[in-house]
Amino acid sequence: MFARPHLLGIEPLHPTEITALLDRAQHYAEGARAGTRPEPVLAGLTQVNMFFENSTRTQASFEIAGKRLGADVMSMAMQASSLAKGETLIDTALTLNAMRPDLLVVRHPHAGAVDLLAQKVTCAVLNAGDGRHEHPTQALLDALTIRRAKGRLHRLTVAICGDIAHSRVARSNLILLGKMENRVRLVGPPTLMPPEVAALGVEVTDDMAAGLKDADVVMMLRLQKERMDGAFIPSEREYYHRFGLDAAKLAHAKPDAIVMHPGPMNRGVEIDGTLADDINRSVIQEQVEMGVAVRMAAMDLLAGARARAR
Ligand code: ASP
Repeated sequence: MFARPHLLGIEPLHPTEITALLDRAQHYAEGARAGTRPEPVLAGLTQVNMFFENSTRTQASFEIAGKRLGADVMSMAMQASSLAKGETLIDTALTLNAMRPDLLVVRHPHAGAVDLLAQKVTCAVLNAGDGRHEHPTQALLDALTIRRAKGRLHRLTVAICGDIAHSRVARSNLILLGKMENRVRLVGPPTLMPPEVAALGVEVTDDMAAGLKDADVVMMLRLQKERMDGAFIPSEREYYHRFGLDAAKLAHAKPDAIVMHPGPMNRGVEIDGTLADDINRSVIQEQVEMGVAVRMAAMDLLAGARARAR
């Protein structure tokens, strides 16, 4: 089962905990499709979303997830808050903690900031993305989407393509897919590979044809320009030519390979727009749908673990 106080990353999780989270999320996903209202397991609890970095889908997804389970949800616009007045992250956390929330959902531009915050507060903390470090609910929603499409989450070949170096999505996925015994390939230009790539124990290539060969899953990543200082690619046109996913490159993967992207997408840079919209290949909208289910499951399990610990 799941008995942790926080969800800070995929790294500490045991495969049985990942499966428990996905099973609970699957239950919520099925309920949503059937149009049934879930049990309000978070009724009477307060969820605060603190996003120190821009977000559209993740913030909305956490907000909807909390509301569906009956929580009182407050989203704080952190740029406009006391941080702009110079208050430190820890002071902000302690101030909020004194208001006794039950769940704190945090996104921060610095790797490790969410872990630090979790040490200072008494409620459950969920990492909604910290710098290049981790984005655990994204990897979990990707895992659920893969499991639903492929009927399993092991012994699959998954190609993760593009800007690996700046991507917390790639990092969390790499860890999760490895724990569940899948074969992962990283595909992208050497300038967009993390320096520690050799130590990761996965296949690495800068050739899309070789990287996608017989893949079951093709996961594209956004070029994270906000994390680049300097030129990492010659031009977007050239990048698209070599690394952008189109039907011709996808033909190297298995005929039933699925196409994923965490969003937001740069159409015509890392992925062809028509392919992204092709419901026979792309599961990008299902990823968004599973995002709500996974966040409901994570908050349900964390709140349950806290209640049992009391
Ligand atoms: N939305 C994801 C993240 O926050 C992916 C991205 O921004 O490209 O990391």
